[in-house]
Amino acid sequence: MNERIFLSSPHMSDEGYEMKYVKEAFDTNWIAPLGENVNEFEKELAAKVGSKAAAALSSGTAAIHLALKGAGVGEGDVVFCPTLTFSATANPIIYQNAKPVFIDSNHETWNMCPKALEEAFERYPEVKAVIVVHLYGLSADMDKIMEICKKHNVVVIEDAAESLGGYYKGQHTGTFGDYGIFSFNGNKIITTSGGGMLVSNDEKKVAKARFWATQSRDQARHYQHSELGFNYRMSNIVAGIGRGQLKVLDQRVEKKKYIFEFYKRELSDIEGVQFMPVNDWDEPNYWLSSMTLNGQVRPNDVMEALEKENIESRPIWKPMHMQPFFIEYDFVGTDVAEELFENGICLPSDTKMTDVDLKRIVKIIKGLWLD
Ligand SMILES: *Cc1c(COP(=O)(O)O)cnc(C)c1O
Repeated sequence: MNERIFLSSPHMSDEGYEMKYVKEAFDTNWIAPLGENVNEFEKELAAKVGSKAAAALSSGTAAIHLALKGAGVGEGDVVFCPTLTFSATANPIIYQNAKPVFIDSNHETWNMCPKALEEAFERYPEVKAVIVVHLYGLSADMDKIMEICKKHNVVVIEDAAESLGGYYKGQHTGTFGDYGIFSFNGNKIITTSGGGMLVSNDEKKVAKARFWATQSRDQARHYQHSELGFNYRMSNIVAGIGRGQLKVLDQRVEKKKYIFEFYKRELSDIEGVQFMPVNDWDEPNYWLSSMTLNGQVRPNDVMEALEKENIESRPIWKPMHMQPFFIEYDFVGTDVAEELFENGICLPSDTKMTDVDLKRIVKIIKGLWLD
């Protein structure tokens, strides 16, 4: 059996940058809790994406939670959320006892449909915050979305967990809204084994998030708390891995793009195959190469054929409005996200793949049209 090919697995630098920073933390005994790696990782990431401030946290989910809290979202409030996303986008809305309203995608971006968003504002003018996701590293149509959100004077949180290294019209995704969040989970384009970052151009907002993330300790020698606290900070060891990974982010984006273009060149002529939309204003990070199949060969056939060869692939995220847990919440839109889910597949996008791997994958997939 060939060695397993993963959808997207951790890929440390060849140069050993990550170990160097982790070793520094050991050598200085800055194992916990915070320390130089955390401070520097925040600065380096903020500089990379062009944001004024950043807070390193234990996960992307924690970052979304604190962004919602910062937006003042609480009991019974309405929050708009794309339906086509990973559940981690929506779960923190429930942590705050608020009410998600799910918004459909459009075909042009696979992301939040501006028309459906407008319709949602008509239905829920009292909405407190809007979460926008940049799915698989493709940017949402930010000009249109920001224009609508500004008109309604609502807080915008960008879930850029999947789009680190991706730009919309030359501006980094995650820096358009009031808050942006990134994830360094194991399958993301760079990883710290687990972690997240909250960014904002408003340094006060970030400082407040750091305060909540360290148990909301008031400025006092004795332990005093005037607010509910959380244990959401990133550790100095984990931040060391992040600093090393950030150095190879551009290389990873380049390889992800290469993988996408390889598949597109080899497979897009097949009838019914359509690749994820790369708009001319978009410079995605191509985190996962995805396509839809509209014909005899179904996504499941492709996934099964690849799995037989020990190669991992996945369906497109199952929309939140179709999830048993979220079924009671409202949905605005038509059947675009549902259709993408039914016809979509994420191809192996691991940056450690060689051309030999890619050729093998393409051959297996093409074989399904020959039977
Ligand atoms: C991975 C992911 C998250 C959550 O990030 P964690 O660091 O795993 O908590 C949130 N939103 C989206 C869209 C993601 O893909």
